[in-house]
Order: sequence, then structure tokens, then C-alpha cells
Amino acid sequence: MEAACSLPINNADRKSNAESPMTYFQSPVENGLAYAVARKKEGARIVGIMCEYTPRELILAADGVPVCLCGGSAEMAESAEKVLPSNLCPIIKSTFGYSLEKENPFLEMSDLLVAETTCDGKKKMYELLAEKHPMHVLELPQKPDDRDAFKHWETELHKLKGALEKQFSTRITDKKLRDAIGVMNRERKLKRALAALLKSEKPPLTGRELLEMKSLISAIPGDLEQYEKVLLRLNGRTISPSAESRVRVMLTGVPLPHGAERVLEIMEDSGGLVVCQENCTGYKPVQEDVDETVEDPLQALAEKYFHLPCSVMTRNLRRLDQLRALAGEYRVECLIELIWQACLTYDVESSWVKRLAEEELNVPYLRLETDFSPSDSARIALRVQSLYETVKGRKGSHH
Ligand code: SF4
Ligand code: SF4
Repeated sequence: MEAACSLPINNADRKSNAESPMTYFQSPVENGLAYAVARKKEGARIVGIMCEYTPRELILAADGVPVCLCGGSAEMAESAEKVLPSNLCPIIKSTFGYSLEKENPFLEMSDLLVAETTCDGKKKMYELLAEKHPMHVLELPQKPDDRDAFKHWETELHKLKGALEKQFSTRITDKKLRDAIGVMNRERKLKRALAALLKSEKPPLTGRELLEMKSLISAIPGDLEQYEKVLLRLNGRTISPSAESRVRVMLTGVPLPHGAERVLEIMEDSGGLVVCQENCTGYKPVQEDVDETVEDPLQALAEKYFHLPCSVMTRNLRRLDQLRALAGEYRVECLIELIWQACLTYDVESSWVKRLAEEELNVPYLRLETDFSPSDSARIALRVQSLYETVKGRKGSHH
């Protein structure tokens, strides 16, 4: 979020950008900031979130603006080491570093933070963040197939609803919640359609371009229009170097917050095409919609979010099922797993993923552990190139 302090772009700029949908998403911080400032002026509340388990629908139904606060800056991660241990996930450090340096305008303008209990590092960092920012802690149970755990999760969502209502002196009616669910389902559907473009033999966009088409804020009406335009206009577009000459990669593991796209860029600059991003900045959160036919919208919301296959759950078998299905749909030729330094849950789970890739899917697997600093970029490029050589070698021997 380095560019976060530049002036928000005005409406005229947004309009001209709208003519070329691929460039519309090039300034997510400025776009988001312009929207957040305008909505705040109208009386809406800004709510910072830091995980895909937090149901944005509840925030929208409370006339809140849900903003993702996860940091992707190497500089901010380093800055956080004044307080936090250095051997900690760079997302956690970077998010906290922004708070220390007061460099994230969204965090500074937030009326409330919703903090979920996922991994230990985040959970404990939130205690420090709460010293400066109003916070509601959402307790995430850990057994995804246990109905008692689900009941607890549903209770937690009721408590979040109550907290939002109290904090913002509003009422979240079923009607408001259903409307918010409708908007978020529409956004998820559009994002799934964009991701599905990469199933093709000749995709009209790269994985990097797909990753770029995001917002820090969900459900901005202008964004949804742009997604629709992109879907129409990409028809017939080709990428360079050509898709046929590249190795089809599935990326799994940790999410790539804004500013931390380096590793994906290395994968595509080294001769790969990341056709599937099965992580929280890709397919994972948009895979499932909220069921709009269930009588109690809060229960439907609880179901959808409880199914999110994150490594903080035990056991997280849904993730393996998802990887299995996606590998087939996207015809991936290798699997690269990204682990942020000190992310224990994804790291331990990587042994299941490696086994799935090598023994079941029969594709080469590479585990990359790194942080946000570019110091190991050359080493990563070499390892990725060597993986692609293995893929090409196998292809050659099949012909
Ligand atoms: S990877 Fe897990 S902890 Fe991180 S945003 Fe996704 S669901 Fe939340
Ligand atoms: S990447 Fe891992 S350690 Fe970092 S915040 Fe997500 S779950 Fe926690």
C-alpha cells in the first residue's frame, strides 16, 4: 500500500479508466480510498477486516464498508520488528507495521476492526492492534465437520451482528442481509467467471492480470460493472509469450496481499502461466456462494463461511478435494505451494499437498518458502525454472 497516501482520483478519472477495464484495476488503493472517503462522508462506517472468514455481508448490511487491511509491504514488515518477533509471518508483520507507522489510510479511518481467531500469530498481533483501534474478535472454531463447532460459529456471527448494530446504532434486518448476500454472490460469480477464463488452452489473460483485477473493498458497484465489461471485452485477446509455450501452473498455499505479488511474477516471467490460484486472494473465497433459498440468512451465511478450506482448520480435507478438482478443470502441469515464512499451518499441511500432487495427480510439486523481501528472487527463479524443465521433460517423453 505504498501509494496509499497519494491523492484519491476523482470521478472523471474513474470514468476515463472505465473505457479500458484492464487498467481500471491498476490503482486499487486510490480507487478504494476515493470510494471509502465518499461513503464515509455519506455516513457509512469503515470496517477493517483481515481474513476471508469474516462475512462481509454482515458489514454491508450494517451500512458498513468492508476493507481488507492485510499488508503486503516488505518495508512495513521490517518496521513491525520493532515490536513483533522477526520470525513471524510477513502478512502479520506488515499489517501491524502499517499501524505502527500510521501508513495505511484505511486502518486510520476505520470505525471498527473485525479480527478473527485463525492462526496464533494473527490472534496475538490483534491484541496489540486493539490497543489503538476499536475491535471485535470473531472466534473461529477449528473442526469444520463438527456440528457443535458449527453451532458455535453461528453464535459468533450473531454476536458480530449484535456488535455491529450496537456500535453503529443500526438494525441489521433480514431484508438488508439478503440484499448484501445478493450483491456478494454476484461479485463471487463474476470473479469465478474471470478465473474460469484461464481454463482455456489459450487464455485471454495471465494469472498476474487476474490477480490485479481486485479491490481492497468488496461490492463497489463500479467494480462489478468493470468485471462484466472485462468478461465481454477479453474475448479473442491473446497474451504474450503465447499460452501454448508456457507451463500451466497451479498456485496454492498462502494469499498474496496487495504489494506482495513478486513470487507470482517470477513464476510467469520464468515461462509459466499461473492458470489457477487456489488461495485466499484467488479462488478459495469465491468458490461457494451463500444459499439464498435458506429461510434464515444468517444461518446460510454461517454455512458458506464455515466451509472455507483454510489450513487453520483440522482436518482441512476440503482443501485437498478442491485441489484435486481444480487440477483437472484447469489441466495444470505442476503445483507450486507458497508458504510465507513462519506460517506453520500451511507449512505442515504442505506434506499432504505434496503427496496429492506427486502420488495422485502425478504432477511435479514445488514448495517455496519466502517473505516479502526480494533478496531471494534469483534463487526462486532458478527453482521454478528447474520445475518447468521437469514438466517439459515429462511432456517430451510422452510424445
Ligand atoms: S489463508 Fe486462512 S487465515 Fe489467511 S485469509 Fe485465508 S482463511 Fe484467513
Ligand atoms: S499466511 Fe499463515 S501465518 Fe500468515 S496470517 Fe495467514 S495463516 Fe497466519
